[in-house]
Amino acid sequence: MPVSSFQNDLINLPSLLDAIQQLALTHIQNLSTIHISPKTSNIPSANLPEMGQGATFPLHWFTEHYQALMTASAGPRYLGFVTGGTTPAALAGDWLVSAFDQNTQSITPGSGDCSALLEQEAIRLLTQLLNLPDAFMGGFVTGATMSNFTGLAVARQWFGAEYGLDIATEGLRQDVPVLSATPHSSAVKALAMLGIGRNSLRFVPTLPNREAIDPAELELAIEELKGEPFILISSGGTVDTVDFDDMAFIGDLKKRYRFWWHVDAAFGGFAACSPAYAHLLNGWELADSITIDGHKWLNVPYDSAVILTRTEHAHLQRDTFKNANAPYLGDPLQNFSYLNFVPENSRRFRALPAWFTLMAYGRDGYRALVENSITRAQQLGRLLDESAVFSLAAPVRLNVVCFTLKAGQTNDINTRLNDILTHLKQRGRVFLTPTAYKGIPCLRAAFVNWQTTDADVQIVVDELLTAWQAVQPVDQ
Ligand SMILES: *Cc1c(COP(=O)(O)O)cnc(C)c1O
Repeated sequence: MPVSSFQNDLINLPSLLDAIQQLALTHIQNLSTIHISPKTSNIPSANLPEMGQGATFPLHWFTEHYQALMTASAGPRYLGFVTGGTTPAALAGDWLVSAFDQNTQSITPGSGDCSALLEQEAIRLLTQLLNLPDAFMGGFVTGATMSNFTGLAVARQWFGAEYGLDIATEGLRQDVPVLSATPHSSAVKALAMLGIGRNSLRFVPTLPNREAIDPAELELAIEELKGEPFILISSGGTVDTVDFDDMAFIGDLKKRYRFWWHVDAAFGGFAACSPAYAHLLNGWELADSITIDGHKWLNVPYDSAVILTRTEHAHLQRDTFKNANAPYLGDPLQNFSYLNFVPENSRRFRALPAWFTLMAYGRDGYRALVENSITRAQQLGRLLDESAVFSLAAPVRLNVVCFTLKAGQTNDINTRLNDILTHLKQRGRVFLTPTAYKGIPCLRAAFVNWQTTDADVQIVVDELLTAWQAVQPVDQ
């Protein structure tokens, strides 16, 4: 019988891992010169091998056909969406996740392993970094979308309990009022997935020329509910202008009204790392649930976010997510297990990259990372505003620059900005994404990557001005 390709790969594992390390290093060390946006919309395809030859076959196929198509999305000038990078320590932790492949559900000796305990350790380090009290417990989910989903699912359970109902058991039979000013699209998606429905959202006006909720309007909207319980979704950093709802004011409202307070602080929560900006979050420690994204400002690889909930709500969370009637998985009421607290049953060991990077860089490291991003955003904002072409659509409040064309430059801003983006994509040195702010087409640059320097910002400005020149209509 021939040696199977599995056995062969095991024997050759050292050289396979060496090759992988070389490949990874080549990519990471060249991040600042690799083309930054996708160059093609189709890729060569292969058929399933009838006779598997082991890992060197896909490795060669990948390096030959796909490696050059990989973008520098983890690099310093990828400023689209809100995309972090991967710190060296996070990469180390992430590789070990696959090597150890733990069963992360249970902390009960005999039915799980220590990874769930380590997850709780990582959560504790994170809440220390964010200066949150011990009142919060947490778990890892795939991203902030699922974190919003999880927090709002527990909110839904709380809402039912206010009426003596167990919604997780009985189903949702009444309207759930949800108030918010500028919710992230994923929070709205979560309402859809939870059966609460997108239309349950009652939009509260923002302050003038802001994305933050108008406190007086919020109180009016609450008064209109006449004592009915409701859910409030607050922004701890909006994606376009990183505006924050007044957390101290809302924390105060908690004393007078019955509501579940969910704070979506996916990336804005990291303002807590900088003493100069931490005040933006004053009061969020009174929230019922908080969304924090790992693959943004924490700079761990994709597939990582945290849902924080107050420990006093643990029973509501377990009632929502308990995985009951499966004797082989144990009694959900007896022992703590993540499978009864988050949407997924089986999960990868997401806590490990986060634990690695938090332990590696600590409070001062994350303060430096966060403050560097803020400084870079301010630098870009200043340079664009001083240019003859661009102007800020909103002040740079934290780490995102939202900008448009100066008045009088064109009568079709949308087309021109899209032309600029197309040009930037062709050149492949800078990645920005489009948005609209208060009805005006804009571009945005979000700084969260640990590697971005002032020289990168200068390149961004040069590329933007070059692109602007290139997209001028030919003179008549
Ligand atoms: C990015 C983001 C989300 C969604 O996060 P994913 O990780 O993409 O699921 C939600 N809320 C805010 C404020 C965000 O910035």
